[in-house]
Amino acid sequence: MKKIITKEITCPFCPLLCDDVNITYKNKKFKVNNLKNKECVKKFESFNINNKSALTPKIKNKVSSYNDAILKSKLLIKKSNEIGILNRGADVASIRSAINLCSQINANFDHINSKYFFDNMNIVQRTGFVATTLMEVKNRADTILVFGNNVFNKAPRLIEKILAPDSSLYTKKNARKVFLIGQFSQKDINNLKKNLQVINVKIKINEIPKFLESINSNINKKDRLSKILATLKTALQKSKYVTAIYSSSDFFSTGISGDIVNSITQFICNLNTTIRAACLPIAGNLGDASNNQVATWLTGFPVRFKGVDGIFKHDREAYDVTKLIENKEIDLAIHLNSLSLEKINLNKKIKNIVIGHPQTTCSSPPDIFIPVGIPGIDSDGIMFRTDNVVSMPLKSFRDLEMPLLNQVIDKMV
Ligand code: SF4
Repeated sequence: MKKIITKEITCPFCPLLCDDVNITYKNKKFKVNNLKNKECVKKFESFNINNKSALTPKIKNKVSSYNDAILKSKLLIKKSNEIGILNRGADVASIRSAINLCSQINANFDHINSKYFFDNMNIVQRTGFVATTLMEVKNRADTILVFGNNVFNKAPRLIEKILAPDSSLYTKKNARKVFLIGQFSQKDINNLKKNLQVINVKIKINEIPKFLESINSNINKKDRLSKILATLKTALQKSKYVTAIYSSSDFFSTGISGDIVNSITQFICNLNTTIRAACLPIAGNLGDASNNQVATWLTGFPVRFKGVDGIFKHDREAYDVTKLIENKEIDLAIHLNSLSLEKINLNKKIKNIVIGHPQTTCSSPPDIFIPVGIPGIDSDGIMFRTDNVVSMPLKSFRDLEMPLLNQVIDKMV
């Protein structure tokens, strides 16, 4: 009898980790039944197996057994002088295994999105900031400031689930004011306007610090921006709970990302003297929050560390694995890819092992490719949501008969 499954699962493909995704799995294909958001449906269903899927391990682009691919990987590890492990998206169990491997083989360890994470980390370590959870924003925030340009692409259901949810414990949808500060697409603005009072503050991203500074200065009400500033000032004065939402990666290309994040977090800290205000940073969608949690438990450092004879050393510059690969400062790169559909750019001048889901694509064939299952589709697992306070259980439903990322890594130790 053919297996047909219909069930509600948790989606692992962005840091919201929605747990209300209803899927049907039939004839080895799955489809999403209940989401209106086309981006989410496309993202999820892109992981269906097709005629381009890589279902068998390969050594030098030739089909091999799992056993041979793992043995050959161990040989490459043994022969290498300097190794980099790059996490491109994995669940808690796989990160745990990867850090154990890192410790055993004295490798450098990094996450592909770590460059975006340091601006927030700097503030946590040096200035201090107030953060909140997705549920607090959903239930309590009455004034929401969204900064950036791309945050709704990174978390496609942010509007539906958090900003304009069907039910909220304390804040009515029509009483909530949202200020979009930056360069948002008309599509995002229109989506929000369907349900909420939206004020679009169209400024360049690098003007955010100046804009926030000007809120407290005397306002000349003649030009458009001054009028918006006056509206914002009044909304803040009347508000009981202000939230600032942003994703640091939106600011990265300005070259002043740290200043922008600092201006937002400082603005929120200052508001806290009279009202409740907090930040909700949106993490990257490659298991960034899970990576940083597990790495901090196990090593004391969230990213960019190196195993050195049983201990871990941290250096933001020295253990930047993306740069080590680009500059050929390592002779073996191990790429872990159980969540991303983005093509992996390999440096052909060094050896490359790619352990990834069957839809993984690379710029050139790696020395070794080992296909693995996807957490939340092929394996149970746990991942952390963007607010870092909830770890969501993932449930498998597909029967690919493929090992999991953590199982393959464990065999390389
Ligand atoms: S918003 Fe994110 S977690 Fe939710 S269904 Fe879409 S991609 Fe998945």
